[in-house]
Parts: sequence; structure tokens; C-alpha cells
Amino acid sequence: MTMKLTPLELMTKLISFPTVSRDTNLPLIDWVEGYLGSHGIKAYRWPDPDQPHKAALFAHVGPWEEGAVVLSGHTDVVPIDGQDWSSDPFTVTERDGKYYGRGTCDMKGFDALAIWALVEAQTRGVKHPLQLALSFDEEVGCTGAPPMIEAMQPVLPKGGPVIVGEPSMMKTVTGHKGGQGLRTHVIGHEVHSSLLHIGVNAIMASAPLITWVNDTNVANRDKEPGPLAAMFDPPYTTAHIGMISGGTAHNITAGECDFAVSFRVVPGEDPQAWCDAYTEAALQVQSDIQAIHPDTRVELSPWFRVPALVPEDNGAAEALTRQLTGDNETHVVSYGTEAGQFQEAGYSAVVCGPGDIAQAHQPDEFITIEQFNAGHAFMEKLLARLQQG
Ligand SMILES: [Zn+2]
Repeated sequence: MTMKLTPLELMTKLISFPTVSRDTNLPLIDWVEGYLGSHGIKAYRWPDPDQPHKAALFAHVGPWEEGAVVLSGHTDVVPIDGQDWSSDPFTVTERDGKYYGRGTCDMKGFDALAIWALVEAQTRGVKHPLQLALSFDEEVGCTGAPPMIEAMQPVLPKGGPVIVGEPSMMKTVTGHKGGQGLRTHVIGHEVHSSLLHIGVNAIMASAPLITWVNDTNVANRDKEPGPLAAMFDPPYTTAHIGMISGGTAHNITAGECDFAVSFRVVPGEDPQAWCDAYTEAALQVQSDIQAIHPDTRVELSPWFRVPALVPEDNGAAEALTRQLTGDNETHVVSYGTEAGQFQEAGYSAVVCGPGDIAQAHQPDEFITIEQFNAGHAFMEKLLARLQQG
């Protein structure tokens, strides 16, 4: 048995692995598997068959029975490219009451606390089970959690309340918007721009779709929000295009234009219905440009899909985190998390973790020592509860 590490030592270790989403997370997974193993905890992996350099990990401690509290986090972090850091992003550095480092807030601080709690549950002994679930590819569209959740089903007893420890200042977040996106590839017809009437400029052909997105936002803004939507800021579904590229020269009609549209959908609305409406607009554009030249087209392909987290009636996860934190206010957020995916798979789920989402993805990302300690205190209370009969 290796020495037990403190939450801070665990966070320091996790952050030393530069698990940017595009890169491998296996060294981190190897280390966690070995660390848990050294304390008598068997960890299970879900290796991604399509990305052999990535794997998820999950484990169970305590009585081999259903209803475990599930502590869930992602192991990937966003890149540091182009960011100006005051200290090494992959070394936890303490300054002014804060721990700096990529992932301190989003969300290796919570991962460290969850690993700590799992080992404590094992060594102290618990009457109720605790599970750990560590995913990957959260930052690139929450694509790693669904196969991990599926892989857990035949291996572990079905878990009960799920706590996804994204930074929420230890508040209980019971709802978030869902998201879905479509990549759009417009293929035009290149001619000299002096002859544009016989060409199809893919950039200009894309304009009606961008206008459709703007119009959709205005129409949604002007609608009376339903009770679920009214909890959010803004209280409506939004559509967004964040990047666009196309064209090769100022005097050639653009042969191609690429962009992607993403929807942030309030609970109660169907993300697919929004994608269908956009698809209809794209088909209209396609028929318009094909009337000019038959070789043109608009190609759409699925990008990502994250289900909303719908506030539950008497949810077990909500009740648990409210008891442990004493927080009884209603909180919803406009960003997606893996909590919606656990809920879709039949779990009761909330978001509750240390740190402030405002620090996520930033240069000089940090978690305050106060928040990290609040997360530690939360785990202590959880352990005490799991030890009770
Ligand atoms: Zn995160």
C-alpha cells in the first residue's frame, strides 16, 4: 500500500498530467488506477476504441449493492495555447490564497477530492457504497461520458445519486441547458467575381443561414418563457456560430464555406427540433444555389449533442447535496455538463463542485483555497453519511 495523499497532493499530481482534450489522458488514468489499486480498490477502464490514447475509469467502494453515490468528473482540460500564464500551468502554484494551474477549477480539483474520498471510504469502511467515474473529452462536446456510463452498467451495481463536480461554488445546480450542434459545409461554384451571376459564392450563400440564426435568437427572445425556461439567463434557447472560414481570393466566388451552428436549448424544448428547423433552412439555401449551378450543395453533419439537465421532483441527488451543503436556493446554469447525460441514462443528477466557472478555461486558472477546502469539508460530510447505518 502506498502512502495516502492529501487532496492537495492529489490535485497537484493530476494537474501534472497535461491532459488537454486533443492529447492522451492515459498517463493520468494509469496513475489513478495504480493509486486506487495500491489501496485495494479495483478500477475499471473504458478504453475508447476510436481513440486508443484515451480511456475513462470507474470504481466502486463499499457494499456491492445498488444506490451508490457517484462522484463524477472529467479528466481533460482545455488548451493553454495563446494564453499568458504567470506560472507553469501544469504545476500547482499557491499565491494569494489561491491554487493556480490548468484544471484547478475545471475540474481536477474536484477529481482529486473524489479520489481522496474513495480511498477514505475504502480505508475507513462505509455502510453505503461510493463510486467514482472519470471521463474524457468533456471539453470537446461531452462525448466521453455516454459510452463510459454505458460501460459502467454491466460492471458495477447501478449507482444512485450522481454529483458532477463542475465548478458551482458548492451550490446545488439542478438544471442546465442542453446543447446540440451541426457542422455546415457549403459548396459553391468558383468563377471570376466579375461573372458572379453564373457562379455560386459559398460565403454569400451562407449568409441566409447566419441570418436565420440571428432571426431565431430574436424570435426566441421575444417569446414568453415557460416556467423551466424562465429559470435561465437568458430565459430562451439560443443559436450561435462562433467560427467561419471560406474563400481563396477577393476576386473569386468562394468555392467553399465552413461553419458550425450550436444551440443551447432550455429544458423542455427538443434540441433535435431546432436542428431540424435549421436543416430545413439549409435545404432552402441548397435549392436556391442549385438553381444557379447543379454542382453546388449544403452538407450538414452532426457535431455534438448534450442533453439538458432537467430539475427533478424530489431528486435524490438534489436532496443529498442540499443536506451536505445546507444550500436550499435554486440554481441553474447555461452551460452543459455530464449531469444531463447521467440523468438521461436514468440517474438522479446534480452539478455541485468547488470553484467558480468564471475561472474555467482562463489563463491563470485558479481555485481559491477556501473553495477547495469547502469541497474537502463536503467530502468529509459525505463520508460521515456513508458510514452511518
Ligand atoms: Zn468542466
